[in-house]
Amino acid sequence: MNPKEWLRFYMEMAQWFGVEGLYFPSAKEPPDASSPPAQQGRAASEQGEKGEVVRAQPSLASAPQAGLFGEEEASELLVVPTEDRRKALHVIEEAVANCTKCPLAQTRTKVVPGVGDPHAQLMLIGEAPGAQEDKRGLPFVGPAGQLLTKMLSAIQIQREAVYITNVVKCRPPRNRDPQPEEIASCRPFLQAQLRLISPKVILALGAFAARTILSKPPKVSLSSLRGKVWELHSGKLLVIATYHPSALLRYPQYKKLAWQDLQLLQRTLSSLSSQEA
Ligand code: SF4
Repeated sequence: MNPKEWLRFYMEMAQWFGVEGLYFPSAKEPPDASSPPAQQGRAASEQGEKGEVVRAQPSLASAPQAGLFGEEEASELLVVPTEDRRKALHVIEEAVANCTKCPLAQTRTKVVPGVGDPHAQLMLIGEAPGAQEDKRGLPFVGPAGQLLTKMLSAIQIQREAVYITNVVKCRPPRNRDPQPEEIASCRPFLQAQLRLISPKVILALGAFAARTILSKPPKVSLSSLRGKVWELHSGKLLVIATYHPSALLRYPQYKKLAWQDLQLLQRTLSSLSSQEA
């Protein structure tokens, strides 16, 4: 996509998301490249009242959170075998394919372990496979998946450059919500994928993913978790929660908020790149 095509695409996406006026993000211009992420977040917070993104208050500076991992496991997050991540991911995929740990094994057509770059800096985690995913064994391949690809493109991220998976790897019958015991049974696979890929940022898609990754109880709403950058493991892992693309297809009122979350994701990734440069 050349710059002109991308601009047209970006404007179409902004329109679809209900954005009025054009806030034009630039991957080369993070909010303040000299500030650490927390300070940049605060800067974003000040813009929050004007409809911009809001920074998470639960910064780990005061209250470390282990999220998906137990506290004792937090230090292991970045200790991953890097020699051949693809091979190691394949081992996890095989374990998923043979898994019968929860009742979803009896109703699935195919397991959906995940797909993408084993060295991805950004990992996308959804809730559970749907009908299309169950048929093909790949995550986010239905209409919601197509929207997800466009959402990533709008912030100049290629789908192939990220790793995409779900909290549970088998489709719940009739797309019902995954049960707590199913999430618990499947959790070790997600933990293994996280340890191996060791992403810098997770985009949690939907309430189940956000609550699972941030270890929040079932009553915590997605609206209280989105629009913020959560720092886990002393800031080694950042988490942004947003609406699941399938929710955006059904409930247009969430589109503007999701667009803000996308901008927040882009700023966060830009900020990380600036710090590494
Ligand atoms: S959902 Fe997870 S734990 Fe349950 S059978 Fe599938 S792979 Fe195993």
